[in-house]
Amino acid sequence: MKKIAVVGTGYVGLVTGVCLAEIGHDVTCIDVDQEKIDLLKSGKSPIYEPDIEELISKNVASGNLRFSLETQDAYEVDVIYIAVGTPQKKDGSADLQFVEEVAKRIAHRVKNDVVVVTKSTVPVGTNHFILKMIQEHLQAEVRVDIASNPEFLREGSAIYDSFNGDRIVIGVENDRAALILEEINKPFNIPIFKTDIRSAELIKYAANAFLATKISFINEIASICEKVGANVEDVSMGMGKDQRIGSQFLNAGIGYGGSCFPKDTNALLHIANEAGYQFQILSSVVKINETQKSVLIKKAKERLGTFHGKKIALLGLSFKPNTDDMREAASIDISNQLVEEGANIIAFDPVAKNAAKKILHPTIQYVDCIKEAIQDADAVFILTEWKEIVHFPITNYVKLMKHPIIFDGRNCYHLEEISQHSIDYYSIGRTTSK
Ligand code: NAD
Repeated sequence: MKKIAVVGTGYVGLVTGVCLAEIGHDVTCIDVDQEKIDLLKSGKSPIYEPDIEELISKNVASGNLRFSLETQDAYEVDVIYIAVGTPQKKDGSADLQFVEEVAKRIAHRVKNDVVVVTKSTVPVGTNHFILKMIQEHLQAEVRVDIASNPEFLREGSAIYDSFNGDRIVIGVENDRAALILEEINKPFNIPIFKTDIRSAELIKYAANAFLATKISFINEIASICEKVGANVEDVSMGMGKDQRIGSQFLNAGIGYGGSCFPKDTNALLHIANEAGYQFQILSSVVKINETQKSVLIKKAKERLGTFHGKKIALLGLSFKPNTDDMREAASIDISNQLVEEGANIIAFDPVAKNAAKKILHPTIQYVDCIKEAIQDADAVFILTEWKEIVHFPITNYVKLMKHPIIFDGRNCYHLEEISQHSIDYYSIGRTTSK
């Protein structure tokens, strides 16, 4: 059992802290956000993530887990995980201000030997920079080792992923840090891939860039499907059955969003550029994704002519199902454009309503069920494939809408089923039944 502090209690830090506590470590989750810490202390999770509240209660009760603002005591540990945000700067690079701030605080607060583990996604060289910074500001004569341990969890199944990941990547430079990290992670029973720090840092960006590439690739295939009358779902299935390709991340749609792919692809382009290399495939992947975000609006404009005065229902607002995360969600650009062009928007999302209210245009109305959203709507936009939306009976569109027109950005419904009803249905990469 190790005494661990996790600094940054967001999507990654909270899940990391909770899971480390669950496997028996003594964990303090630290954040500078008073509201977050108060909420967590009251047993509530500031983020929506399946199973997280149960695990918080269980581990707080067993004494393995606690939450704290920045205090001296919180840093009296063997291992400190850095899990603060690394958002995108205007030039595309990763903003390291929060990581730097944490490095300084560590330097001022540690009183015993520690291993500092970077979970945040950071550009190549950052771990060495963090170590240098800590050493420059250290107030006590202690040994500090650094390790890179990039995170691969998926929001929406983060707890499951933490216990069932394909690998744990550890970038280290000495046996002490390696041994401690191997010991910490052993109970997860997930294969550990040990490498040097720079390679570990790059693995995270390369993995996300590759997944984004699969998405942009299938989205371009979808555009070709529409032109030649093929069905992208069948093409994707036929491709994915080849194990060298694999079926995951081959769903055509309205592009990738979220807190990672957009910023990490841009950061990797920046890293490559700084190193004097033009990463041509990735540049195209990013451009294709930008174009893909607007395909649904384009289809809708062709069909409706104008959005002015139209009642439009948006189904699904979060960037993907099972999360309330709205960062870089397709709903942001789409709703902004619809509002700008005079549409009246009614929106439904099973969990992201409150998060959406903080970001989306204030004129948008929110409802708590799909039926209410589509009642008398001129058109429906499906933006997130929540199971509530995928399983929503198609007959309801016919019953409740003036004349059912659906723009499905996530290919939620089977064309065969749609063809049995009088619905104008437009999806991605599939020839409409009409
Ligand atoms: P987040 O914005 O949800 O959480 C970051 C937290 O850090 C916030 O609660 C913030 O208050 C806190 N914080 C900021 N400065 C602090 C400080 N000085 N001391 C203590 N706390 C501080 O971010 P996230 O989504 O959890 O991402 C964290 C990192 O993990 C990023 O680098 C991200 O790229 C990476 N990552 C994210 C995911 C994901 O799915 N969200 C997956 C893999 C990797």
